[in-house]
Amino acid sequence: MPDWSAIESETVSRLQAIIQFDTTNPPGNELPLARYLEGALRSEGVETNLLEVGDNRAQLIGRIRGSGAKRPLILLAHMDVVGVEREKWTHDPFGGEVHDGYLYGRGAIDDKGMLAANLMTMLMLKREPATKLDRDVVFVATSDEEAGGEWGMAWLVEHHPELLDAEFALNEGGRTRIIRGGRTYLAVQSAEKVSHVVTVTATGSAGHAAIPLADNAVFRLARALESLSMYREPVMLTEITGRFFGKLAEIWPDPVEKAAMIDLVSSDPKRIEAGATVLSRTAVFNAVLRNGISPTVVTGGKQFNVIPATAQAVLNVRTLPGHSIDKVINRLRAIVSEPGVTIELSARGEDAPPSDPTSAMFSAIVDATHELDPTIAVVPYLSTGVTDSARLRRLGVQAYGVLPFPMGEDDEKRMHGADERVPLESLHFGVRLVYEATRRVCGPG
Ligand SMILES: [Zn+2]
Repeated sequence: MPDWSAIESETVSRLQAIIQFDTTNPPGNELPLARYLEGALRSEGVETNLLEVGDNRAQLIGRIRGSGAKRPLILLAHMDVVGVEREKWTHDPFGGEVHDGYLYGRGAIDDKGMLAANLMTMLMLKREPATKLDRDVVFVATSDEEAGGEWGMAWLVEHHPELLDAEFALNEGGRTRIIRGGRTYLAVQSAEKVSHVVTVTATGSAGHAAIPLADNAVFRLARALESLSMYREPVMLTEITGRFFGKLAEIWPDPVEKAAMIDLVSSDPKRIEAGATVLSRTAVFNAVLRNGISPTVVTGGKQFNVIPATAQAVLNVRTLPGHSIDKVINRLRAIVSEPGVTIELSARGEDAPPSDPTSAMFSAIVDATHELDPTIAVVPYLSTGVTDSARLRRLGVQAYGVLPFPMGEDDEKRMHGADERVPLESLHFGVRLVYEATRRVCGPG
């Protein structure tokens, strides 16, 4: 058993050190942090592999070898952080200061807290020579996650897929959310939506604005968007969203929504529809129940007195995994009857298979969580955002996203915002969760 009070103070000082490396992306400059992690692992005998990618950027891999009876587990976290608006912070965003039970700093919860938890897990495993591992535990710290991953996970997948050979991965992307009434649920991200770009183009006659024209492209575009605004894709319950709502119902404080969750996962089509109607009123629930359509960019003419020949709107369409964007576009075309309007796919997102919500890794997360707090509901979760886990899933790795630090909505909202912080108690909970889940899934048996 680790000496938890010593581990807690070491975790705090390591997270402080990690935050003090300014890895704002762009430009990133993750190499010095990668060297720090390399030193921390190597000085305790963990084998490491520092992969420089140029421009002061790098990926750091650390590996503790198991017997090889099972395929490896990856503990993944990114080293880069998003920028800060310094004037909005009350503490130095790169200071790692502790005040009133919170550790402040950019990255405290995205994703340096997890980086510290993964690092501590590696060190604890290495310090216990008696621990028998059936699989390798692979520490992976990447660059450039916040700006698309071209110099991070995408680079690793392209140049060193052999280092990512694993059965399971733990990554960011989930939530440990404390809700109203004090209950907590751990949403384990097991799948994610796929993001596509679709362009709506309206064409009409160009001309001088002094002579209004019936086929004005801007009006045509507006009518097309009006039709789209009234359209919603049908509810499509996946295995993961079904389990998500079914488990969440157990702890959900709002009685109307709780009943709707139970209806949604029933086998009665009428109840399913009624449940979906209630839950769809909450934007985040609506987003996981169906393919989503969000217009984001509108472009048209350039001058106030010239009618343009074309006007365009860009839609960000996010499909549920396994659902065809081409079929969505066909449905959109069918509901837009406006003449002179075309709807085309301009950038196709890459689908990734969901991770199994009944795997040994998922069970290890559930068991580790319940050992720490049996009242927490652990639910598989489909995220609407895109993470590096999709790249791993496409390689055949079952990746799971956790943010293992229990937090209320107020603290969670500071992610990418001002005064980002992690409650110390939650940080320590997260370290134990990652460590215990790792030990369970890698231990013999
Ligand atoms: Zn992140």
